[in-house]
Amino acid sequence: MLSIVSTPIGNLGDITLRSIETLKACDAIVCEDTRVTGSLLKALEIEKKELISCHGYSDEKKIDRIIERLEAGEHLVLVSDAGTPGISDPGYKVVSKIRNTKYEIRIEVIPGPSAFLAALSVSGLPINQFLYIGFPPLKKGRQTLFGSFKDEDRTIVLYESVHRIEKTLCEIADALSDQPDRKMVIARELTKMHEEAIHTTVADLKETANTITKKGEFVVVIGPNR
Ligand code: SAM
Repeated sequence: MLSIVSTPIGNLGDITLRSIETLKACDAIVCEDTRVTGSLLKALEIEKKELISCHGYSDEKKIDRIIERLEAGEHLVLVSDAGTPGISDPGYKVVSKIRNTKYEIRIEVIPGPSAFLAALSVSGLPINQFLYIGFPPLKKGRQTLFGSFKDEDRTIVLYESVHRIEKTLCEIADALSDQPDRKMVIARELTKMHEEAIHTTVADLKETANTITKKGEFVVVIGPNR
């Protein structure tokens, strides 16, 4: 069996009881960075667990070996560095390959934190419907994507790294410049000591981009165009 286990996005207290039980009970844990998952296990006082690293650059053979172990009856857990595996991280590759094997492997999910859900719920923007973008493309398609936000009548949520947050916010401000009252929330360091959710508008976005603390992790939420 494969258990897909979500892990905290910053605050260890957000780990669920089922996640702890499953991490303790499994034979091995498939993870992105063994140091990150090793620290989580140490904090949870779970010792001597085999960690199998499988990240975006791992080759297909590595996933094949994971599948062989599952077929042999082992109980493996899939985690990412933080949050829900597969949400803008390499977890989806593993799950989709396992789903496409000819042998039936049971897959269970142990849900928990995800940064985009936390950001949406704290945003105060309408979230009955939303569009999840993940990380915007680095080059090709970027302007087209930001331009398409003009007509979007659902709330939009995207991830951005500390290195690109200012550039991305300024480009969104340019793309939506004819909708100056459109609401936005920049969520930073959710569940951590310096957590903040900055409420702004497209008109003030460049100023926000300039002044926001350029440290940590960011989720950008853009209100609907109504
Ligand atoms: N799988 C993760 C999830 O379920 O949220 C996302 C992984 S993605 C590689 C990492 C990105 O998630 C960061 O660059 C940031 O945009 C966002 N993120 C993760 N933790 C965050 C936090 N505590 N506060 C704000 N954003 C966070």
